Amino acid sequence: MTRTDPLTDVRTGPRRREVLISGAGIAGLALAFWLNRHGYAVTVVERASAVRSSGYPIDVRGTALEVVRRMGILPRLRDAHIDLRRLTFLDGDGGEVASVDPHAVAGSVAGRDLEVRRGDLTEALYAAVRDDVEFLFDDSIDTLDQSGHGVDVTFRGGDRRTFDMVVGADGLHSRTREAVFGPEEQFHRYLGYCFAGFTMRNTFGLSHEVMMWNTPGRAAALYAVGDGDEVHALLNFARPEPPLSFGAFRDPQAQRDVVAAMFADAGWEVPGMIAAMREADDLFVDVVSQIRMPRWSSGRVALVGDAAYAPSFLTGQGTSLALVGAYMLAASLADRDVTVGFAAYEHGTREFVRLNQDQIGEGDATLFPTTARGLERRNDMLRGLAGSSAPPATEGRPAHSALTLPVG
Ligand SMILES: Cc1cc2nc3c(=O)[nH]c(=O)nc-3n(C[C@H](O)[C@H](O)[C@H](O)COP(=O)(O)OP(=O)(O)OC[C@H]3O[C@@H](n4cnc5c(N)ncnc54)[C@H](O)[C@@H]3O)c2cc1C
Repeated sequence: MTRTDPLTDVRTGPRRREVLISGAGIAGLALAFWLNRHGYAVTVVERASAVRSSGYPIDVRGTALEVVRRMGILPRLRDAHIDLRRLTFLDGDGGEVASVDPHAVAGSVAGRDLEVRRGDLTEALYAAVRDDVEFLFDDSIDTLDQSGHGVDVTFRGGDRRTFDMVVGADGLHSRTREAVFGPEEQFHRYLGYCFAGFTMRNTFGLSHEVMMWNTPGRAAALYAVGDGDEVHALLNFARPEPPLSFGAFRDPQAQRDVVAAMFADAGWEVPGMIAAMREADDLFVDVVSQIRMPRWSSGRVALVGDAAYAPSFLTGQGTSLALVGAYMLAASLADRDVTVGFAAYEHGTREFVRLNQDQIGEGDATLFPTTARGLERRNDMLRGLAGSSAPPATEGRPAHSALTLPVG
């Protein structure tokens, strides 16, 4: 009797291993790029009808810069870099508290670390893979079954296919994680805040700058990426428990109402921001949370990016962890079997993730103090920074660069 190797076809030689990635976000697109490079046949399923381009500007720092350099997209991202010049903090009445160098607050390095529109990064990643990878838009995984030789997948759209492995890159509220590891609550670490992000008209004359208004437990920010006629708006508020409509039962209208109620008596430009939020067609609302899991894989299914280890936007490291995690997962699978590859991915990446997640604790975000005393302390710190003549930092936070990538 002839023994057949499922990875070898006698006529065509070795078969390319087939992987399904759920989610065409930062982690999913970067993983698609690297697994394709390592010889995998890659399919990406995305529940939206196209790669989603909205979102607040994101940071690419430290080790993640080396990932995008190796992908060949660093020059394109340098061109897209947002040259933010000023971060001005305001008190409850809109009076100026301090105006500081943004890098001094973010712990990033001027001239090296990148801040780009989320859409500029997703577009660069998509352009780098679109011709080599199969994309299934407007669809998602319905069921996963690992009882056979591979992973049998049924799609919401009705198709059934079998893959050698499946990777969930479907974000903070990952359905893949829920299907394989169980409910989100076990892994979800709520950090005590909720936020709403959206774009609105730049009627403020802002240019390359952020204005941030604070009262204890509330922040409203306007972020002008350039001189354009739109600004990114952010409303962030502290709550001991996340409102119901921000959890599993997501109801956009109820979310808008919760945010509006939280800022009902707020001054400065906040009433106009609330009105704009009600009209916004790109509103992104979420809890500020981390995902912490004891394992990132089970059998032939693994998780990457926010799905496995969201650090929260308070660290500014979500995108960098997604990029580095995707690189590490693909490199770990390059010439190994699935189980050994997944174990190597965790072994090589977990400490980096831990260091970056530990940059923030519950309710202690520097930018969003929850008490009057905390806010006064933060304002004193900002005034000190504004008056400082120290030269700009040449090193970022050690956690940002705490992993050296293996050869790709
Ligand atoms: C539209 C959008 C706007 C964002 N805006 C902000 C922001 O303003 N501030 C901030 O801090 N973070 C924001 N994020 C999150 C931020 O991009 C991530 O924290 C970080 O980049 C890590 O990326 P990720 O690829 O792991 O997850 P994400 O960037 O969240 O990508 C996940 C992808 O999976 C897709 N997806 C989700 N569920 C399914 C499913 N069941 N089947 C198939 N596909 C699925 C999503 O549509 C998305 O494309 C945003 C994410 C998205 C998708």
